Amino acid sequence: MSSIHKVTVLGTGVLGSQIAFQTAFSGFDVVAYDISDEILEKAKSRFSSLAETYKQDGVAGAAEGKAEKALENLTYSSDLADAVKDADLVIEAIPEVLKLKQETYEKLAEVAPEKTIFATNSSTLLPSDMKDFTGRPQKFLALHFANQVWKFNTGEVMGTDETDPAVFDEIVDFAAEIGMVPIPIHKEKAGYVLNSLLVPFLNAAAELAAGGYAEPHDVDKVWRIATGAPMGPFQIYDVIGLTTPYNIMSHGSPEAQKIAAWLKENYIDKGKLGISTGHGFYDY
Ligand code: NAD
Repeated sequence: MSSIHKVTVLGTGVLGSQIAFQTAFSGFDVVAYDISDEILEKAKSRFSSLAETYKQDGVAGAAEGKAEKALENLTYSSDLADAVKDADLVIEAIPEVLKLKQETYEKLAEVAPEKTIFATNSSTLLPSDMKDFTGRPQKFLALHFANQVWKFNTGEVMGTDETDPAVFDEIVDFAAEIGMVPIPIHKEKAGYVLNSLLVPFLNAAAELAAGGYAEPHDVDKVWRIATGAPMGPFQIYDVIGLTTPYNIMSHGSPEAQKIAAWLKENYIDKGKLGISTGHGFYDY
């Protein structure tokens, strides 16, 4: 069992709100921190709708009072020093901008108690790019969640070569305590396990369709029938939304830029952005 009781989550956006709610749902005291009171007001409605989603999706105990209890376990602060004053663990889920993360860790290092462990949820940046700004590299590592944490509950744990192994183990235990399936990553790797597999897979699928080799639905059919997987790559694109892959590919190699142009012309410009807009590679 971990010795973590009080958790502060920095950032109440898409992932930060889910991480904070899931942690509160698991019985921890959670402080949700963001940069202004206005943003925190919006976060409150995000948390209320997460409580409803947990009930609708049948998360165990949600409809029997656990979702409301989670809301009670959450407090809010836009004052960093106040937000972290008792924290055993700070989970950072602020925008994926290295300089912003480095500056935030510098400020955090000044105000957080010595005992506090810092974990980043960064998707693409490596913890070693941030460790020197934390003032405690031994107590710093990544804990990476997948979007929709209550359903897609992997917790990839990845340290740097300076992370204390005891801290690493503590975060593996904590991940399990909040309902994640902990996945220890033994060495730093951009993309962890999930995105190291998923990104090339999705790119390969887009190359097949954009190159005119096969229709997206048929690419999905092959993958589902021949491997037994429940979803094909274009169904996954629709879940993620097409904007993020487009943004990444439009800054990539010439081949990636061709795929980006194909995505834009055939889908994005037609408002087909995935499940969130009701249309993508499929209609919903
Ligand atoms: P988001 O843009 O939805 O939310 C970011 C939040 O951080 C906003 O509420 C913003 O006000 C707040 N913020 C900005 N500057 C801040 C600061 N200095 N201190 C505290 N809060 C600040 O972003 P997101 O999609 O939730 O992503 C956050 C992190 O999680 C990123 O590192 C991202 O790579 C990672 N991540 C995202 C996903 C995903 O599917 N969206 C999945 C896994 C990991």
